[in-house]
Amino acid sequence: MAPEGRRIGDTFADDSDSDVSIFDHDDATRAKNKGKGKAIDRRKKDKGKGKAKEQPYAWEASYTRSWDTVQEDEAGSLQGAVQDLIARGRRRRLQAPAAAIRRTIIRHLVLVLDLSSAMMDRDMRPTRFDLMLQYAREFITEWFDQNPLGQIGVVGMRGGLGERIGEMSGNPQDVLKSISERHKLEPNGEPSLQNAIEMARSSMSHLPTHSSREILVIFGSLTTCDPGNIHDTLDECVKDRIRISIVALAAEMKICRELCEKTGGQFGVAMNEGHFKDLLFELIPPPAQRAVTRANGGPAANPAADLMIMGFPMRLPDTSPPSLCVCHSQMKSEGFLCPRCLAKVCDVPTDCDICGLMIVSSPHLARSYHHLFPVKPYQAVMTLEDPSNSSKRCHGCSVAFRNTPSTMTGASGEGFSPLGRYRCPECKNDFCTDCDVFVHDVVHCCPGCGK
Ligand SMILES: [Zn+2]
Ligand SMILES: [Zn+2]
Ligand SMILES: [Zn+2]
Ligand SMILES: [Zn+2]
Repeated sequence: MAPEGRRIGDTFADDSDSDVSIFDHDDATRAKNKGKGKAIDRRKKDKGKGKAKEQPYAWEASYTRSWDTVQEDEAGSLQGAVQDLIARGRRRRLQAPAAAIRRTIIRHLVLVLDLSSAMMDRDMRPTRFDLMLQYAREFITEWFDQNPLGQIGVVGMRGGLGERIGEMSGNPQDVLKSISERHKLEPNGEPSLQNAIEMARSSMSHLPTHSSREILVIFGSLTTCDPGNIHDTLDECVKDRIRISIVALAAEMKICRELCEKTGGQFGVAMNEGHFKDLLFELIPPPAQRAVTRANGGPAANPAADLMIMGFPMRLPDTSPPSLCVCHSQMKSEGFLCPRCLAKVCDVPTDCDICGLMIVSSPHLARSYHHLFPVKPYQAVMTLEDPSNSSKRCHGCSVAFRNTPSTMTGASGEGFSPLGRYRCPECKNDFCTDCDVFVHDVVHCCPGCGK
């Protein structure tokens, strides 16, 4: 172990890392992070020039024990600490804008993966490359879950070229398959930001205006090897309203920040594995549209809502006679019929290859709605004196509320109820902490009032 003083010096000033890993990460990642602690670090910026030899035990000094932040209460129980973490998660959600904002639910994203030799760096375990692939898979799954009407394409950067790895597709399985074979993505050479962005841009040039066009770059290198002036590419992207977001793994580069700022995207440098995932997953909710108008300068010319044509396809049973699909030209029995031209496509949502009609299924459409009409945040009940609701049990799961306020120190604060009660502002029913989180994160509909 490193000397005590050193470890303290390296502890993070911000605590986002530990609390987020409880909420947003799946169990596997959490377990992994726990076992390994957080490889870090502050020092990453010197990494290019600095040598490991000059800083003995650098890996050890930067070892932060995430479990140190969890403290037992007087009774020796961890429950209080866990509630504190949940409360912090709630607080973050409460900070999210409650007012209605215009969001794009039909999204098109090109995921640009850095496959240059810089990705073989081991500052993130096991390597940047493996971690990127793992997080990219989780990102794609979660992204499609939240954006069922969206489509993702994948582009790689290696050997100074942009490389199309996966075509734009609305089917999560297709996208996951494109990055499933690790040996085909083996990193080598220099990345070319310009080539990759140009390739991503060309694959989105045909898209209609009601959909968003986004590029997300995971960038591990500190150089880019471009054939021309990348600022011209940037100008083209601004003109095409393409939003570029970059998650850098090494350090900030001016051109990266500029790409993001001018196109209205987000830029972040990952400090460690957990932070990398946070940065990535922040890009999952649909972007608010006002950011686009701001990025284009000029007055906020938010266009009036315009209607768009969508078709609900007819699903063919598995027993129907085989016929050719228009997307792959394969003989298949199952598929969907375009309601306008009766062409057969394999998957929805998609654009009909024949007539261009957008084909969606109604569950996809319904699932996209919760971003537009979020459940109002529940208010924390601070005292029992309010007579408007004296129910003893949670309206959601019938668990009994406690009668005495919790004495946890550090757990108090905005958004945390010492009684563990959270009240819906519409129906005035009280819910427990677990139900509150479940309603807002999974159900997207209040069981008390149906809103
Ligand atoms: Zn097909
Ligand atoms: Zn059609
Ligand atoms: Zn409950
Ligand atoms: Zn309600």
